[in-house]
Amino acid sequence: MTQKVLVLPGDGIGVEIVAEAVKVIGVLNKEFGLSIELEEGLVGGSAYDAKGHPLPEETLVQAKAADSILLGAVGGYQWEKLDIAVRPEKGLLGLRSNLSLFSNLRPAILYPQLADASTLKADVVSGLDLMIVRELTGGIYFGQPRGVRTLDNGERQGYNTYIYSESEIERIGRSAFDIAMKRDKRVCSVDKANVLECTELWREVMTTLAAEYPEVELSHMYVDNAAMQLVRAPKQFDVMVTGNMFGDILSDCAAMLTGSIGMLPSASLDANGKGMYEPIHGSAPDIAGKGVANPLATILSVAMMLRYSFNLAEPADKIESAVNSVLDQGLRTADIHSQGMQEVGTAQMGDAVVAALQAQAS
Ligand code: NAD
Repeated sequence: MTQKVLVLPGDGIGVEIVAEAVKVIGVLNKEFGLSIELEEGLVGGSAYDAKGHPLPEETLVQAKAADSILLGAVGGYQWEKLDIAVRPEKGLLGLRSNLSLFSNLRPAILYPQLADASTLKADVVSGLDLMIVRELTGGIYFGQPRGVRTLDNGERQGYNTYIYSESEIERIGRSAFDIAMKRDKRVCSVDKANVLECTELWREVMTTLAAEYPEVELSHMYVDNAAMQLVRAPKQFDVMVTGNMFGDILSDCAAMLTGSIGMLPSASLDANGKGMYEPIHGSAPDIAGKGVANPLATILSVAMMLRYSFNLAEPADKIESAVNSVLDQGLRTADIHSQGMQEVGTAQMGDAVVAALQAQAS
């Protein structure tokens, strides 16, 4: 079956790192019998420059027609002064909302070869492999009413609404349980059920849903404890599922456990498994155009796409083991470089992954 993938390089290093991921897709098609058709589109600041909007109508049409999307990154100094409605980031947010990408998957994986990159002790984080599933289109970030009002006494008061319906909780829960079935079959649901009624309902719905997944072990944890446990003993977790705001905070914390944002992929999925896959980092304008950016997060995003949107676990494993192999060879881009290792640029790193993949085919 042919899969149609929309490639959106975006801005800054996005262009350089996506080019390496495209090479990897080429090898998958040629050597492993996959049939992934690529189409390219514009998003972010480069789309604004070319079309006057960070998410042009034609990009949205392409995105809706595609089976999945591979995105580089958006943003850059030259667009920072634009009106907020047309800033590059609006391109991303527009894609997420228009495609109903409600389930954000943020793995935090620390390859043992890079254990020294973490600020935590190597034995606490080495071999870390956890997945945070964050609800992305609801909760307090979108809840109504919201705003800043002036009270009778003249004081201003800011307010937001933390709101989740049962169906919203159930669908993100299902996403987490389905992912756990492809992993170690453990889900930790994070809430603040001791204080917030909304998350009391969250806990109730998760518990009911767990009955449909008898193989998966469900546990619950308050968000403050979850933050502590993430830095104390992160390897205890397999899949964590939580709402939009808690997930925003915990997923950044988990990413930093690995010490290297150049290594971490992410996915945002809709209810049918269609997804947008992207590295967690931004467009890194400070190093854009220099050919030194780490392409591995983007290449690993392709592996996630195969696993979670196309149900192709085997080639996904092959990409991940090719990444492992280049790290074993001692190849490092500048962001993950350490003494005794061989420093390589973006294209060299991409070529090394391609070679490691080809070695698995022969
Ligand atoms: P950033 O992630 O772009 O960069 C932070 C630091 O990490 C920089 O020093 C950068 O050089 C380094 N870095 C990031 N990715 C790297 C890679 N693959 N290889 C090597 N080094 C890497 O974050 P920032 O500097 O806060 O933001 C820069 C721009 O990116 C801003 O316009 C911001 O809005 C945008 N941004 C976009 C996304 C996205 O597209 N999803 C996410 C975050 C930030």
